[in-house]
Amino acid sequence: MSYVDEVYNYVVEKNPAQPEFHQAVKEVLDSLRVVIDANEEEYRKDALLERLCTPERQILFRVPWVDDKGQVQVNNGFRIQFNSAIGPYKGGLRFHPSVNLGIIKFLGFEQIFKNSLTGLPIGGGKGGSDFDPKGKSDREIMAFCQSFMTELFRHIGADTDVPAGDIGVGGREIGYMYGQYKRIRDTYEGVLTGKGLTYGGSLARTQATGYGLLYLTEELLKCNGSDISGKTVVVSGAGNVAIYAIEKAQQLGAKVVTCSDSTGWIYDSEGIDVELLKEVKEVKRARLTEYAAARKSAEYHEGRGVWSIKCDVALPCATQNELQLEDAKQLVANGVQAVCEGANMPTTIEATEYLQQNKVMFVGGKAANAGGVATSALEMSQNSERLHWTFEEVDAKLKQIMVNIYHNIDDAAKKYGMEGNYVAGANIAGFLKVAEAMKAQGIV
Ligand code: GLU
Repeated sequence: MSYVDEVYNYVVEKNPAQPEFHQAVKEVLDSLRVVIDANEEEYRKDALLERLCTPERQILFRVPWVDDKGQVQVNNGFRIQFNSAIGPYKGGLRFHPSVNLGIIKFLGFEQIFKNSLTGLPIGGGKGGSDFDPKGKSDREIMAFCQSFMTELFRHIGADTDVPAGDIGVGGREIGYMYGQYKRIRDTYEGVLTGKGLTYGGSLARTQATGYGLLYLTEELLKCNGSDISGKTVVVSGAGNVAIYAIEKAQQLGAKVVTCSDSTGWIYDSEGIDVELLKEVKEVKRARLTEYAAARKSAEYHEGRGVWSIKCDVALPCATQNELQLEDAKQLVANGVQAVCEGANMPTTIEATEYLQQNKVMFVGGKAANAGGVATSALEMSQNSERLHWTFEEVDAKLKQIMVNIYHNIDDAAKKYGMEGNYVAGANIAGFLKVAEAMKAQGIV
């Protein structure tokens, strides 16, 4: 049996009932076959892949908090410190009822390669809780965040592990967690990213994942003889990634006609009104029905359905496994040219393969959504030098990073005989740097 297959079986056996983690590992290992096969004996002897697929440290903890009725609630807290070969652990915190150990491990595993692709010195980690922020009062959110940090603080630090946001964790939650960390440690340090601008946050961090997704998509289209300007784009999601992806797509001259949340989706024939969307989602924290109520050109539909809309470019920006084989078939039948992932692993393996077989340009999240974490690393740099860069400076660096990522993954795919397979290109380019650093640092 090849070393790749041995390790995949090992991961499934050692991590039962974690299908998302298995899926993330399978996608990476399958596309590394050419690289691994060429160095199989050496990698096997060093158990390089077993080490890569086993987190350096897994922290599981209880998060008790008191709700507004005086009732004590208990949630599970997680922080997976997956790989620190190229820098301190870095990755977001997700607060969502679907969170469990397997979900955090899949996200942490992806983060290793994504962070490597940014070209910046950050290792891979991820954390979160099964806490559901939806419908909670501000006081309840603060109580939860303070309790969460009262345990997490002992495991993190500006040179050890630097969490940030993800689904359910935005500026408000980062603020409450930062305040509690500072209070316990009595140290003012850049231990979290995505902070507010008054206490060490970076300009353009809020926009970074969505803007970065569009900078990469723009370069992808340009290098393949096309142009983002004038294209019809469908976006899923209505959170931070989706909002700023829509904003940048429109600035680049595209027309974005959809967005979605956990209960339904919008088709807006005039193009999404991004200011209205921000008002509904960022200020009122309301449902998309409010968007539809305020806009004549918008239709609201219950359930899922954005992938049924005819488009040139599709940008899944909601959550894992939201774009399935049937959706991919519909997109292809409607003539989609490119699919770039704003979320983490939103496309199933079967859907990815179908898109690739049908000559759709497909860029996975590890490359396409790396702009968020890259800008987090820029926030860490500014915190370290105790300086603050302008929006234009950060945005220009972000754009350059995304253009470089595109060319790195394109070159890696070509070098290993898989031209146009950007999934393989991203996994190979991300892996090689981490593998070299792990080898250099010995058996740790
Ligand atoms: N949660 C984001 C991601 O998936 C950002 C992580 C960060 O900024 O550390 O990459």
